[in-house]
Amino acid sequence: MEKIKKIAISRDGKKYFIRDTTKDYHTKEGFIRKEELKKTSSIARTNTGSELYIFNPKFIDLYNKIKRLPQIIPLKDIGAIIANTGINKKSYVLDAGSGSGALSLFLSNIVKRVVTYEIRDDFIKIVRHNIQLLKIKNLNVEKKDIYLGIDEKNLDLITLDVPKPWEVLAHAEKSLKLGGFLVSYSPTIVQVSDLVNSVKNCKTLLHIKTMETLEREWEIEERRVRPKSRMLGHSGFLTFIRKISA
Ligand code: SAH
Repeated sequence: MEKIKKIAISRDGKKYFIRDTTKDYHTKEGFIRKEELKKTSSIARTNTGSELYIFNPKFIDLYNKIKRLPQIIPLKDIGAIIANTGINKKSYVLDAGSGSGALSLFLSNIVKRVVTYEIRDDFIKIVRHNIQLLKIKNLNVEKKDIYLGIDEKNLDLITLDVPKPWEVLAHAEKSLKLGGFLVSYSPTIVQVSDLVNSVKNCKTLLHIKTMETLEREWEIEERRVRPKSRMLGHSGFLTFIRKISA
């Protein structure tokens, strides 16, 4: 897989991903000569006179290019997980199931180490592709069924995006650090109530809260300032559970 070396952005927000800086790069707004791609200045002019802004890709630029399955967890929910658990560069995290690895990859970028379990070989392949794309070094993908157990101990956070999260509670009790979090992402509220009712039978765990995040983007065009008519609606509920005793 060839690496993305540069990003070019036009004034109207169109983004181009440049993999080969030894050739002229063609866009809808004309082409940028290869000499322009090598300059230290960030502004390049195409042969038709349009300006493009060039810089090295950041994590989020590459993240937006990952191969994804339909059920990827959206950024608004990833943000809520990070903010409500306070995980940081010292944290050790387990995420299951991997899916396309969207959540695992994002967490790997901010914590010390992430292990992710996935049962399907085809998805494991996608996650490995995405790890290479993002040049992530602290994420291990393992072919394991989370319902059967968790091998890791002393975890600061377990994130779940599986159909039956309640089947993981007994394993989480043994694998979480005291004060650590289990966060479950479920599309339906019936899954949430089954999970939260099961937590009541686990002495070492406490249900902290269940929430959903709604995001509404706005259009700002001169004095035409209003919410976008289409919004990202329901994705999933987040349930926060904490390990409160040994
Ligand atoms: N959070 C992921 C998407 C996960 S989709 C992302 O952001 O990309 C749910 C995944 O869980 C699927 O890939 C499915 O194969 C996997 N899965 C389902 N049951 C599982 C189990 N018992 N153990 C591990 N993975 C499981």
